[in-house]
Amino acid sequence: MDDILEHFRRTGALLDGHFILSSGLHSPKYLQCALAMQNPADAKVFGEAIADKSRDLGIDTVASPAIGGLIIGFAVAQALNVRFIWTERQNGVMTLRRGFSLRPGERILVVEDVITTGGSTRECIAALEDNGGEVVFAASIIDRSNGTADVGVPRISLVEMDVPTYETADCPMCARGDIAEKPGSRK
Ligand SMILES: [Zn+2]
Repeated sequence: MDDILEHFRRTGALLDGHFILSSGLHSPKYLQCALAMQNPADAKVFGEAIADKSRDLGIDTVASPAIGGLIIGFAVAQALNVRFIWTERQNGVMTLRRGFSLRPGERILVVEDVITTGGSTRECIAALEDNGGEVVFAASIIDRSNGTADVGVPRISLVEMDVPTYETADCPMCARGDIAEKPGSRK
């Protein structure tokens, strides 16, 4: 694969412009990782790249927070030839369900598609540790925190990005008179 961000732009997973995010904030970038992994061959390439950076860690199991982490987590587990499990929200709390269980001290790699504040990775780690796992490493394709998100374990990403967000009143693009658009409205 060529440059990762170039791939994201080509698949529409990364848009440059002037966007209204679901939070209501404005941003010059919009990221939707799912669009970059519609082709399983592309997800496989990302999975292998993360696996290459974590191959020496003695990982027993890859785990991801659903839904965003499922495809990339599966791809990393496939590349490492280890099992794959996930956590999901139940009444708002990240939980290990579906009969998944962990051995005491089982060494786990937590994988997400994109880390913004690290919140869902931290919640996933807490759910795994509550069930006896030992999370030794975390990884994502994209790090939107530009390296600043702290998830409590060592972490890597394939690409670090700075994605500024603005309140409407402080948005420099609005100040220039640009019209903000909702992602997905562009044809
Ligand atoms: Zn704006």
